[in-house]
Amino acid sequence: MIYLQQVKQSNMSVILERIWQHNQISRVELVEHTSLTSGTITNLTHELIELNILRETEAVSGTVGRKRVLLGFDPHTFRVIGLDISRSSIELVVMDLNGTIMQSAERDMTGIQGPDAYLKVIRELVADAKKSIDAAGCRVLGLGVGVPGPIDHAKGTIVSPPNFPGWSGFPLQMKLEEEFGLVTLIEDDARTSALAERRYGLGKNVKHLVFVTMGAGIGGGVVTDGKIVRGTNGLCGQVGHMTIVLDGKLCDCGNRGCWETVGSIPGILSRWPHGSTLAELRSAALSGDQEAIKCIHDTLVYLEAAMINIQNLYDPELIVLGGSLYPMLADYMDHVKQRLRSRIYAFAKDRLNIEAATFKASQSAVGAAALLFDYLLSEPVRLLSLSERKVEKQ
Ligand SMILES: [Zn+2]
Repeated sequence: MIYLQQVKQSNMSVILERIWQHNQISRVELVEHTSLTSGTITNLTHELIELNILRETEAVSGTVGRKRVLLGFDPHTFRVIGLDISRSSIELVVMDLNGTIMQSAERDMTGIQGPDAYLKVIRELVADAKKSIDAAGCRVLGLGVGVPGPIDHAKGTIVSPPNFPGWSGFPLQMKLEEEFGLVTLIEDDARTSALAERRYGLGKNVKHLVFVTMGAGIGGGVVTDGKIVRGTNGLCGQVGHMTIVLDGKLCDCGNRGCWETVGSIPGILSRWPHGSTLAELRSAALSGDQEAIKCIHDTLVYLEAAMINIQNLYDPELIVLGGSLYPMLADYMDHVKQRLRSRIYAFAKDRLNIEAATFKASQSAVGAAALLFDYLLSEPVRLLSLSERKVEKQ
């Protein structure tokens, strides 16, 4: 890309980020909030309106009754598709550029294994979504996908995911791109979950956050300075693999005593041999079963240790907890937070901020869609031209 185009793209990016932050903003305010001249803002916003990325709306200012023209994202032209591929389900959402979920679908994949069987279902879901997007006269900007990690981003493959047979080394990004002719981005599902909070949930005004998802496994996504952090080997935020029990069980990752081995749903149930579901564990605890009470107590102690480690290592403004285990833990969180406050640096204890995830079962799919939104905000010219080329090829 030639230099002038690069400058234009980065100036557009500054404008789009500001508009995302404010939802609606006038050109005058854009001049105040950026280092761009009013001429540059006039030209670039004009171009972004022509491209159907932005639109103007009129608002009447209350005090003097004067009309103001505000800029916001155009919700009518482009759609992004977010897909979450998990060990037990496939979830799809279609979103507009304001982050509104326009459509969603879910398929239970319990007992179904391997990329071929999954691709068959994904094909149906994406085809349905594209059909209704076309019928509404909209265009798909791209497809974002959340999958169990780790991921080799350079190759677009999943790397030896535990308990996910047949997927190791599968060229997911390339396959989906070929299949649907859409710009496709893939990411670890804990990171897409974190991005969902950052862009559309509790993280809008939070630059440093950690998302922890607890279910069949435990994963984490780290946002620092507003950006997803991957680390050297794509392992940043693998909070489920912090050592919690020094002489504990061997984990799939090669370490011993990882939080996941005792704190995930299978990890919890492995410490209570009298039942096979969390519901059974809870009802046993409620009826006074001492072993069940101890199992839940230990689960909370492990959670507390993990949270202290996360808080002290990442120093986030916000920790968001999600995943299928969270509803059970929610009842105990006041107690856990109280304990945590007594264990962190005294001057920071009142800033401890732990919240529940916003999007429940759609968390990762919403964040997968946000991958494309992120791309649009950082490299609008590049994404639009890539997306255009894909349309021409079809
Ligand atoms: Zn591990």
